[in-house]
Amino acid sequence: MISKVLIANRGEIALRVLRACKELGIATVAVHSTADADAMHVRLADESVCIGPPPSRESYLNIHQIVAACEITGADAVHPGYGFLSENAKFAEILDAHGITFIGPTAEHIRLMGDKITAKQTAQELGIPVVPGSDGEVKPENALEVARKIGFPVLIKATAGGGGRGMKVARSAADLDEAVATARSEAAAAFGNDAVYMEKYLGHPRHIEIQIVGDGFGNAIHLGERDCSLQRRHQKVWEEANSPALNVEQRMKIGQVCADAMKKMKYRGAGTIEFLYEDGEFYFIEMNTRLQVEHPITEAITGIDLVHEQIRVASGAGLSVTQEEIEFSGHAIECRINAEDPRTFVPSPGTITHFHAPGGLGVRVDSGAYQGYKIPPYYDSLIGKLIVHGRTRVECMMRLRRVLDEFVIDGIKTTLPLFQELISNQDIANGDYDIHWLENYLAKTKA
Ligand code: ADP
Repeated sequence: MISKVLIANRGEIALRVLRACKELGIATVAVHSTADADAMHVRLADESVCIGPPPSRESYLNIHQIVAACEITGADAVHPGYGFLSENAKFAEILDAHGITFIGPTAEHIRLMGDKITAKQTAQELGIPVVPGSDGEVKPENALEVARKIGFPVLIKATAGGGGRGMKVARSAADLDEAVATARSEAAAAFGNDAVYMEKYLGHPRHIEIQIVGDGFGNAIHLGERDCSLQRRHQKVWEEANSPALNVEQRMKIGQVCADAMKKMKYRGAGTIEFLYEDGEFYFIEMNTRLQVEHPITEAITGIDLVHEQIRVASGAGLSVTQEEIEFSGHAIECRINAEDPRTFVPSPGTITHFHAPGGLGVRVDSGAYQGYKIPPYYDSLIGKLIVHGRTRVECMMRLRRVLDEFVIDGIKTTLPLFQELISNQDIANGDYDIHWLENYLAKTKA
């Protein structure tokens, strides 16, 4: 069994994991950079270790320091949260070599899904529908031939991709050379790997993803979908479960395809299988072998704590529920509160002079922010997540409107005003939006 977990992350997710550990009676160790000495996850953990200066490379991404912190504190497991080391196969192997449990999938599965070309091939072999595209890597010399075969418009994507980087659309043969060259150089700069592949560019899809959890022995469940179509620059802003676009039969069908694939793989841990959904068809784009930022909306509609499940399966205890026992109840929406200008999305670090979190039935705020907290400029700008649950989508939206009015964060700019706009928009009220909706809306309503 796991008795002490070191949380190799910061911010709201470190707090999220810490809460789950406390509920399970597991001791916690926070690690932090010198910039985060006053952070909430550090204050609430049973023990904490400073692992380096502010830049992530020298602290949160420093594997030696994290392993040393485990040795010093006697932590027998590490939860990586999301981002940072959560999808680093080498990290999982190093922990394993030190007899420390990695709360996540096997290094082999992280690798398999980390490379998008291999992931796509694997998904296809496991019976998951994929976006039509190239068989593997595309080189500048054969790009035109491949694009003609797929049919324009096409999307060039980095095989090591993430966060929407290294992704370029080519609408016709005239744009192709430049799109391939830019995608390759962006990919090389961001991931140290310039390999790219090509997909059919879908014109009006929704982004729908399926949450799965596997026990590593061939049992796996799905917890329905999340609709994350509201994005800007391929980054999710607002997520909902269930998707306004799916009915129960569609949900259970695609969910089962994913759970069956995970059973075949003997997947261990939580994971998300991401799809684009257009004209009634699902197309796999990637699998994330970790907890997602937006996991709380799934927790809201199922009542299942995904971090508890992660810890259970990592310790070999199996899943706490069977597929038949899972009940989907009501509707949940998550708003990502970033310390950013709500229009330009330019980061706005600084000191929070006033902070009041909303409450009441069906409201969850996951945040490490507090009055007087100084947001360091070194990390991503997510400072909190607002999750609202209602018995129906309408109730959920009405509650969200009330809650957004109540939330006070002063001293910095945040994305809260954007959500106040969205909650009053007719398309959003109708659930009628695709992955391009938000960018179009922002362009149309530019001040
Ligand atoms: P990343 O790992 O960089 O986030 P993904 O493959 O998950 O990349 O894609 C991110 C987003 O890019 C998707 O949610 C979608 O908005 C857009 N996208 C990806 N593939 C396609 C495609 N074939 N056609 C249209 N849009 C796409």
